[in-house]
Amino acid sequence: MSQNNVFAKLLMSWYRACARDLPWRRTKDPYRIWISEVMLQQTTVNAVIPFYQRWIRQFPNIQSVAQSSAQNILKAWQGLGYYSRARNIHATAKIIVKKFRGDFPSNKDILRSLPGFGPYTTGAVLSIAFDRREPIIDANVRRVIMRQLNSKGFADSVQDKKIFEFLDNVMPWRNMCIFNQALMELGALVCRSKNPRCLICPIRASCLAYKKGVVDIVPQPKVKAIKNVSAAIAVIRDKDKFFMQKRPAKGLFADLWEFPGGKIDSGETARQALVREVQEELSISIKIEKKLPNVIQFYTQFKATLFVWLCQPCAMPRTDKMHKWLKLSDLKHYPLSAGTAKIVENLEKIVLK
Ligand code: SF4
Repeated sequence: MSQNNVFAKLLMSWYRACARDLPWRRTKDPYRIWISEVMLQQTTVNAVIPFYQRWIRQFPNIQSVAQSSAQNILKAWQGLGYYSRARNIHATAKIIVKKFRGDFPSNKDILRSLPGFGPYTTGAVLSIAFDRREPIIDANVRRVIMRQLNSKGFADSVQDKKIFEFLDNVMPWRNMCIFNQALMELGALVCRSKNPRCLICPIRASCLAYKKGVVDIVPQPKVKAIKNVSAAIAVIRDKDKFFMQKRPAKGLFADLWEFPGGKIDSGETARQALVREVQEELSISIKIEKKLPNVIQFYTQFKATLFVWLCQPCAMPRTDKMHKWLKLSDLKHYPLSAGTAKIVENLEKIVLK
């Protein structure tokens, strides 16, 4: 057996014995595999499981996604972040139902033309659902192969040409669904970014970083600077209703619903920002009723601290499709960012107690 076959064989035997039993691994349905792969981008497996299970209950097939409203899709995605992923799923489902009568395409060029289908998602669906010999590179695969090759530099797409060449040499002609998942699983469970478990690694014999004793510095560690953002938020109440507005269709938190408010400028107090933001956004003044708990929310690019007040309007703001008075119970049907969802939770405790 050639060196390359040994690599795939060892890896796949390990996977068959040690892989986690995850809900999306019990199916070959390309729709379900696609949903799980999109959810898993930027999100951990443990966080995805309940979202995936709920999604499949709500949208058991691609037709149910295509027929749903954008608002329902975004609501089902609430908490996963990166909402463009949900919008792309919706757009792609509509195309597949309309153009392909709901049959999931297995042609690479067609898949690549669909919204949200970059090289990773296309490779994942083709290999896992259709067992095609397509490589996929995610953060886990990149790290494993960089260590196998003892590659210098950060784990970013600059590495991918070399990684593709390596994968093309070791990929099997059958059971690609196992091979690709095995590489990703090894990266998640064994070849972890911190404290890799080299002693139980099935591909240790071919690992150059292990041989050279440089596993901890391959790939080169990155120091991430997290930005702090502070915002003042006005929960404006009129009897049992709260004023909510929809964010624009493009940009951060696109199409999600939120309370009025915005960033605190330098040299400004949170209360001053609150009054200014409401005046700028709604052209009304407010009377502050009481302070609500602050909310801290971590997003990938920044940490947000939200200073929140319960307020009364001095005049009624205009309402339209993007600006509504809603009861707390109505908010269940509206997609919210994680920070806004926490404010609503706090509000429920205070208002409904
Ligand atoms: S030997 Fe260690 S560093 Fe090399 S692939 Fe295995 S777990 Fe990763």
